[in-house]
This record gives sequence, C-alpha cells and structure tokens, in this order.
Amino acid sequence: MAPRVVVVSLASDFGCQVQLTNMEDDLLDVLGLMDLTYWQLASSGHMPDAYDVAIIEGAVTTTEHVELLKDVRSKAAAVVAIGTCAVTGGIPALANTAGLETRYATVYGGGVAVAPGRIAPAPIDSIIDVDYHVPGCPIDTAEFLRGLSRVLQGLSDHMPDQMMCASCKVSENACFLEVGTVCLGLVTRAGCKAKCPSLGRPCTGCRGIAPDANLASAREVFARYGCDPASLASSLLVYNTAAEVTA
Ligand code: SF4
Ligand code: SF4
Repeated sequence: MAPRVVVVSLASDFGCQVQLTNMEDDLLDVLGLMDLTYWQLASSGHMPDAYDVAIIEGAVTTTEHVELLKDVRSKAAAVVAIGTCAVTGGIPALANTAGLETRYATVYGGGVAVAPGRIAPAPIDSIIDVDYHVPGCPIDTAEFLRGLSRVLQGLSDHMPDQMMCASCKVSENACFLEVGTVCLGLVTRAGCKAKCPSLGRPCTGCRGIAPDANLASAREVFARYGCDPASLASSLLVYNTAAEVTA
C-alpha cells in the first residue's frame, strides 16, 4: 500500500507549498509513489485521522499549533519539516527579536485582544521530534525530492553540516566579502549549490546557521574585509534565533 501523506501548514506564507506545485516535471511521478490524502494548500476537505507521513511547513506560533503537532506526531510514522520557518523558526521568529508583546503592540496597538493563544514563534522540533528536515526559504524542489525519496525508503535524515561557502568556491564564484559586501555563505548550511552567489547575489543565509559554523571566526573575517562584524549577527537574525546568532 502506498504511504498515506498529509501536507499541513503552520505560520507561513505557503511559499514552500507553492514550490511543491512548481515541480511540474516530477509532480505526477511523485504523486504516483504516495497516497496524498490531504494537502492544505490544495484541499478543501478535512485532514484525515490516519496517515503515515506528515509534511509540515511553517513555524509554531499558537497553542493550537502545539496541539496539532502533538496529534500529528502521535499518528505519523515520519514527520518532515519543510522550509526554514519549520526548521529554525525562520521569518516568523523575527517577531521574537524585540519581544513578541512589543511587536503586537506596535502593529495592533496596546490593549487590543488579537491572536489568542499566541506563543513565541519557534521551530517544529522545539515541540515534537522531527524525522526529516528540508531547509531553505523557499525549499529547493530537487532537495525536497531527495528528502522525500529518503522518507519513502526509510533512510535517515541527511542535512549537510558544512558551510555554503565551499560550494561557492566549487562554483568558482567571485567572493562578495572581497568587495566589502555582506554575504552569509561562510556560516550558512550548505546544500543549495551556492544558488544566490551563482546568480550574482550574496547569500542571505536562508538555510540557517550550519552546525560546523564558527561565528567568532566569521566576525574576524568580516572585519578583515571591511564589513561591520556586528552586521553578521543582525543579518543572521532573519533566519535564525537570537540565541544562535550571538553564539
Ligand atoms: S520557509 Fe520561506 S518560503 Fe517557506 S513558508 Fe517560510 S517564508 Fe515561506
Ligand atoms: S545562497 Fe544562501 S540565501 Fe541563497 S539559497 Fe543558498 S543558503 Fe539560501
């Protein structure tokens, strides 16, 4: 029997689910390997009670999300986090940087009751165990397909620990730091094949900080090339938590 798969979304802009719809060449092949029983972006029905694989996009921002995740974890044999919102908290977690309640007061005014049950935005694996991670904002469809293949074959998770900078060297891109332009490739998780620098743009760190990254050394490199070392932390905040960027 083909594995029953659900695709659900927490706090996100649906960008990663839209990426799934962009897999024109592969989508039908992928759908032939699974029983896609629910896809939040494309379904009008309710989520089923039984399924084998849950693909989850978005950060956790409410107590309702917490309960949903616990329910999903109790039912799914495999949980897959897609997109940096789900993997690190991503852009939704930026709301934590000035204090969540301060953010709400700035946007909605003081004393207004909005978003009952809200909690500080967080990655999925701060609430439940996650079996597979596909980082990126948005995800790369080829990486998603490789990850999905591992899920369907029962193989283990495979996120690169190294930094993106090495991929840039392999691609023979000119280094942005050498011309004094902030680029986060030297601390960002590899796996995108240096997509942005290869297109002439610096890396903004959308895959999150690599486990092997040395932030202290990166600050020294920034200073050596005339970039403000403090800009490393402020730039990294877009896709990482405050605790991570000051490590
Ligand atoms: S990771 Fe980026 S593209 Fe994906 S849902 Fe979050 S903000 Fe959107
Ligand atoms: S180069 Fe950086 S910002 Fe661009 S896709 Fe790769 S990790 Fe993300």
